[in-house]
Amino acid sequence: MDLTGKTAIVTGSTSGIGLGIARHFATSGANVALNSFSDTAEDHQIAADLATETGADVRYFQGDMSKAETCRAWVDAAADAFGGVDILVNNAGIQHVAAIPDFPTEKWDAIIAINMSSAFHTTAAALPHMRKAGWGRIVNIASAHGLTASPFKSAYVTAKHGVVGFTKVTALETAEEDITCNAVCPAYVLTPLIESQIPDTMKEYDMTREQVVRDVLLARQPTKAFVTIDQVAGTTLFLCSPAADQITGTTISVDGGWTAL
Ligand code: NAD
Repeated sequence: MDLTGKTAIVTGSTSGIGLGIARHFATSGANVALNSFSDTAEDHQIAADLATETGADVRYFQGDMSKAETCRAWVDAAADAFGGVDILVNNAGIQHVAAIPDFPTEKWDAIIAINMSSAFHTTAAALPHMRKAGWGRIVNIASAHGLTASPFKSAYVTAKHGVVGFTKVTALETAEEDITCNAVCPAYVLTPLIESQIPDTMKEYDMTREQVVRDVLLARQPTKAFVTIDQVAGTTLFLCSPAADQITGTTISVDGGWTAL
């Protein structure tokens, strides 16, 4: 797909799925805005390396997606730099696992802010730019946990269900404007977010890494295989292709059969 001349902005895109999505857009010729909250030399280097690798205009814009005003300012900064925003991917996300009575309030607030409310703020800021261009694609990276639940993930499941609902409302409010909004719902992808859960689970259940992967992480994934970053990124790109012009307000599961169970 040729996205030359389009600008794609991706939250939480210096690692994992977000970086994979950014790479797919840059490879397709789009200008790409990377984001994280950290603003390290490494963050800027990731953008420079991706630009060199793909030949696309890739720039890093710091922005803490837990803060409403920062979300909006981040969109506008990218729009100013590139002359607009055509594609918005809401990908930033964090996780915390605990039973409801033990779930720390600050973790709940952070997950709701980063995984859910940021999508509202970035969308609110991006829509005027898309409306000006007469075209826009919004892809929210939700989760299988946007459609089903697991114990001990109350904030994450709540936030991801919220994102799916917000996706539908966004699609309805933009339906006649050649702007679409959809959610991608992956099951487990082996990224830093998931890697970081493995040691604790090994300790808690006295399991080997292999047991944790097969019997805990992939227990509900009938294919018994991780989803890959490229599969999530490819689905995201598809939602920005002409074949998807009439796909809006829906979810696409990339979950190895999880939600068929
Ligand atoms: P990751 O930890 O590799 O990446 C998360 C990204 O979000 C990082 O770039 C991080 O810098 C960024 N981020 C975190 N807090 C931020 C903040 N306050 N402001 C800006 N950026 C922030 O995780 P990932 O697995 O690539 O997850 C990406 C998205 O995919 C998340 O929304 C996650 O919920 C979703 N997802 C992941 C999986 C999986 O199995 N990995 C499955 C389904 C959905």
